[in-house]
Parts: sequence; structure tokens; C-alpha cells
Amino acid sequence: MTPDLLITDARLVRLRGPDPCAAIAAQTVAVRGGKITFAGDADGAPAAGAHTQIWPAEGRLLTPGLIDCHTHLVYAGSRAAEFAKRMAGASYAEIAASGGGIMNTVAATRAASEDELIAQSLPRLDRMLAHGVTTVEIKSGYGLDLETELKILRCARRLGELRRVRIITTFLGAHTTPKGAEADAYIDDVCIPALRTAAMQGLVDAVDGFCETIAFTPGQIARVFATAQALGLPVKLHAEQLSNQAGAELAAQFGALSADHLEHVSADGIAAMAAAGTVAVLLPGAFYALRETIKPPVAQLRAAGVSLAVASDSNPGTSPMTSLPLAMNMAAILFGLTTEETLQGVTRNAARALGRHDIGAIAPGLSADLCLWDCTDPAELTYRIGDPPLHARIFEGQAC
Ligand SMILES: [Zn+2]
Repeated sequence: MTPDLLITDARLVRLRGPDPCAAIAAQTVAVRGGKITFAGDADGAPAAGAHTQIWPAEGRLLTPGLIDCHTHLVYAGSRAAEFAKRMAGASYAEIAASGGGIMNTVAATRAASEDELIAQSLPRLDRMLAHGVTTVEIKSGYGLDLETELKILRCARRLGELRRVRIITTFLGAHTTPKGAEADAYIDDVCIPALRTAAMQGLVDAVDGFCETIAFTPGQIARVFATAQALGLPVKLHAEQLSNQAGAELAAQFGALSADHLEHVSADGIAAMAAAGTVAVLLPGAFYALRETIKPPVAQLRAAGVSLAVASDSNPGTSPMTSLPLAMNMAAILFGLTTEETLQGVTRNAARALGRHDIGAIAPGLSADLCLWDCTDPAELTYRIGDPPLHARIFEGQAC
């Protein structure tokens, strides 16, 4: 089959096979209809036709497009003023008393029109894309009422139409209990009905929750997950970020795609995740911004064979970050991941954390989501502190 696009003389990192992070020189990638049809030595490549675009990579590094598998990208307002107060010594209680914290973002997001929400979120998305991202997961969770949760998910879908990027939506109604409500009543009377409506409208790809002393109990999360299961939707969980709630075990019990944060995960939690094939999504941005000291037990996760992913956790409160390569650098420096692990963490393991088998590697049949970098060593992507040498981003076979 004649390719639409031939990328020649690339230093290819396939993220497949026994040495997935090896960079192999002088490789060719062929693309047709937005999909990879060939990746390998030039002499085995399909011949170019009259309409084939030929792109000489001139020895540059070619990797899969990066996948940010955990973000809260769609919200209104800023928490910079609150950050300034906190840095000047104000306590969390004082900030909460003056209207700060997550409810600050909820109020701004409820008040924003859909167009305003898009206008505020699009520049954040653009910065992510400028750092090589081709797939972004976006969670709801700043609405905490039916209408606003739907609005956030609609905005997330619209962002995917406004830019050449794949958006995957996650319903996170169980993010926090809105002011004045009681947690059990909120879960049963608002969160679960909102999930059913959002799913019916085709706005939900997965379901998430926040299992923590300051959020929801495992029992409350289990009710949300049971609903997700009945709707045929995969689940994931914000688990063991600030304390151990046996959230990892709960996630594994529901066959979760991922358990995220995991600073306080136990040996039992790790074993349960390994048995269920649940990916550990590490979020060093929030760890850094909260000045946490307990790190996720990377060595134990590794030893148990749990796949490690890395994400930006882009959100206004605890990780106002839009650079996935910065998260890669932080995961290496703060958590001790190798540069191979950080690269796998934003490609093939991030794809697993989203339940996707068509992205995250360079192989025939997969979507032609690719990044061409002005370097030859894959370690450069993690080594530079949030300043990746992106040369070109290719989404479904088209440069953008
Ligand atoms: Zn999060």
C-alpha cells in the first residue's frame, strides 16, 4: 500500500519489543490514513508513490507522541492569589476561611459560560501541545452539580475538535463534597445521577474518584464504581495521596485502569494492583507543590511488576503545570525513576492507564501520533527541566 507519509532517516524509539527505549538509527516510518503501516530499516519500507510526502528526519529522534494521562485541565479562575497568601505564611484554614481552596475553583467554574471555560482552558492545552503531547485525559470535578459537570465534559470534548489532539474524558464527580452538602447524600443524590446522565450523553470515557480522609471513603467510592461498572465504563482512582485508605485495593478490586498518586500505598495495595494489572500513575507536580516528604514506593512497585506512568496532574490548586516533560524530570529527580521509565511512563504505560492499545508506541496498526525531537538521545527529554527540544508534533499522520 502506497504511504501518505514516509519519515526517513529517523532515530527511532519504538516503545515496543524487548528493548523498548533503544534509539535505533536510520529507520523509516510509513503512514497511511493516519495509521502507522511500517517502522523499520529503510530497505524494507514500502515504496513512495506520486502523492507520498517524504519527510527526512535527518537523524533526529522520533518517539510516540506524549500522553498526559491525568489532568484537570478544564476549569475557570486562578489560585495565584491564594498561592501568594500561602507563601506569605497563611495557613490552609485561613485560606479556606477566606473562600480559597477547591471551592474557589468550583465557584469560578460554575459561573463561567461554556465559551469562557474554553477560552481559559485552550491556552493551557496549547502549552501542553507545544511540549509534544498528542493525547490528554481531562477530568471533570470542579462542578459538583449536574449542570457544571456536564459543561466541563462538553468543553473537554470541544477542545478535541479545536486542536489536533486526542482528548479522553473522565467523570470525577466524587472529587470533593460541595459546601453545605453531606458526603453520602452528595454521592447518591448528585454524583451518581450526574454520572448516569453524562454517560447517556456520551461524555464519559472513564470514571474517577478521590478516596481520602478529606474526600470520600472507600464505601462511597465503591458505590460510584458499581455504577460505572453497570454503565460499562472503566474506573481509576486518586488513591493514598495523603494517607492510606486501602484505595489501591479498592481500585484493583474493580479492575481499575490506574491508581494515581500512591505516596502512602501499602504492600497489600501494591500486590492487589499487580494482580489486577492496574497501572501506578505518579504525579510529582502535586508532591512538589504540597512539599510532601513521603514518596511513592517506586522500588516496591517496580519489584511487583506494576507498570509506572507519569502525568502532569495539571490543576489550579496543587499542580498548576502544563509541561509533561517537566513531570518526567520531576519523576526522575524526586521519585527516582530512570529516564527509560519516565519515557515509558508518558507513552506506552500512559496508554495502558487510559485503556488504549492504539497509541503509545510506534508499530504497524497504531495511530501515527509522533514527536520528532532536535536531539538523538531519549534521555534529553527527561534531563532538560521542562524544556523539551520539540522539532515537530504529528497527530494521526499530520504535522501540526
Ligand atoms: Zn488529580
